[in-house]
Amino acid sequence: MFESSRPLRLTLYSLVIVAGAVIAATLAMRHAERQALVEDAARANQQLGLYATSLHTLIERYRALPAVLALDPELRSALDGPLTAQQQDLLNRKLEKINGAAESSTLELLDETGLAVAASNWRLPSSYVGHNYGFRPYFSQTRTLGSGRFYAVGVTSGIPGYFLSSAVTADDGRFLGAMVVKLEFPELEREWRQGSDTLLVSDARGVIFIANQPGWRYRLLKPLNDSDHAELKATRQYDKQPLKQLDYQPLESFDDNSHLARVDGPDGKVDYLWESLPLAAEDWTLHLLRRPQVPFEDSRTAALAAAGSWLALVFLLLFLNQRWRLAKIRQRSREELERLVEERTRDLRTAQDGLVQSAKLAALGQMSAALAHEINQPLTAQRMQLATLRLLLDHGRVDDAYKALKPVDDMLTRMAALTGHLKTFARKSPSGLRERLDLATVVDQALQLLETRLREEQVSTVLHLTRPAWVRGDSIRLEQVLINLLRNALDAMHDKPCKRLEIRLEEDEKLWRLTVSDNGGGIAEEHLAKVFDPFFTTKPVGDGLGIGLAVSFAIAHESGGRLSAANQGNGAAFTLTLPIDQEAQGPCSTQ
Ligand code: ADP
Repeated sequence: MFESSRPLRLTLYSLVIVAGAVIAATLAMRHAERQALVEDAARANQQLGLYATSLHTLIERYRALPAVLALDPELRSALDGPLTAQQQDLLNRKLEKINGAAESSTLELLDETGLAVAASNWRLPSSYVGHNYGFRPYFSQTRTLGSGRFYAVGVTSGIPGYFLSSAVTADDGRFLGAMVVKLEFPELEREWRQGSDTLLVSDARGVIFIANQPGWRYRLLKPLNDSDHAELKATRQYDKQPLKQLDYQPLESFDDNSHLARVDGPDGKVDYLWESLPLAAEDWTLHLLRRPQVPFEDSRTAALAAAGSWLALVFLLLFLNQRWRLAKIRQRSREELERLVEERTRDLRTAQDGLVQSAKLAALGQMSAALAHEINQPLTAQRMQLATLRLLLDHGRVDDAYKALKPVDDMLTRMAALTGHLKTFARKSPSGLRERLDLATVVDQALQLLETRLREEQVSTVLHLTRPAWVRGDSIRLEQVLINLLRNALDAMHDKPCKRLEIRLEEDEKLWRLTVSDNGGGIAEEHLAKVFDPFFTTKPVGDGLGIGLAVSFAIAHESGGRLSAANQGNGAAFTLTLPIDQEAQGPCSTQ
């Protein structure tokens, strides 16, 4: 189950990583696009401000013109009474001249009913003269407020324009009529056409009446209600022009006057960055529409950077996770290893303790016959001595009896020492004991234990012992090493007619070097490397266990020393080295 779920998991991870990269790239692209749009919108807004200024300046240039003309006494007197044909002709020509000089579109003079009595375009078929414009809102505004303004399509000329008007009054303040200037914006529209942006001006009802691109004029930005329709009809503002709704749908808004919109305009469905600027003085709104251009390079770079960052992040996390897991595994295996080593060491120590003890018991067993003999002999001798003593006492020879007591005493002391020693030898000592002791004394005690055998087998023992030889260790265990070495030497020399055992204890730099050598024939070359192996023995079954040297080797190591074997002369030489106990090297120490 684990095997099959692993590739599945891998595929899932890969999918998540790839999906993450795609999402990051898409988000970054979106962000880059939006950022570019916002920047573009800000730029467009600045341009819109410039366009608004140019429109405002144009209108301002003419704003005062009707008011100034309204002060002309000739015009005032013309309205203040019936007008002759000659007077009218003069007025027409005057207005024509002023219109030419002011570069306005048309100038007209309306009487108190709204009838055009004179106009600068009097020569043209579309002349205003004789037409009544009393229905136009600018006329009623002028009558009530003194001035008026109104954008409308000319009912006579069919040309749209901005009408600015001012009241012409008599000296007593009576309303005589209105002086009107009409402004057309072909120049402005032509100028605005230079750029690639679409520029529109809409009125308060949302009717677009100025546009620098064909097809936009007379489109509605919002639906008209009934009263709008009625008013438009009454004022004939856009006269016969059909007003058509412009379909547009906002996509994204940047602020109140800035958004992205999908417009179903003259060029079909197109997304535009749509900036609006209300022109408070005229109650109009100026619009700038621009096709958004997000530099492809920028959005691609942003997408790649985002995907790259995402992947880098994912790989960094994977790498850290892997490292963390590896560290955890390492930590766990180190702990496991430490635990195992501890366990093994404990087992080994137990096994070693067991081995030492069994070796000791084996040695004891083998020694028991000799010991029985050793104890039996003095007992017989003592019985005889006691009989002698009794006789001496019977004969009143007290002095001689005293003398005869001495050997008994000696014998008892020796026996007590022997048994005491055996007792300590057989004791199971705690491993790791490191008491301060004299190695020469250990040699003495070992020799003492084997004294019977040495004597019976007529071994000549040569001793070169430096005393005291202070070392740190466990005297009982070191004694066991000595006994093993000595017994092996005796075993090796068993058949030799002339047995020679030599024990040397001397200082060698910072070590005590104790060598036990014999003339028992030595160790066969091929066995030299194996003598310390547990259960290696060349002795007949029942005689040797093969653990004496292995145990001795272990004890030597445990005491910080070494045990080695070599052939020397006619026999073998075993060398035990132990570090000199420095504490003992004071001025009081005797060598
Ligand atoms: P064991 O004495 O029970 O055989 P040891 O570990 O004490 O076990 O000795 C292993 C072997 O090393 C002996 O069987 C013997 O072959 C060899 N050996 C030890 N000491 C001597 C020696 N002094 N001379 C010759 N061989 C020796």
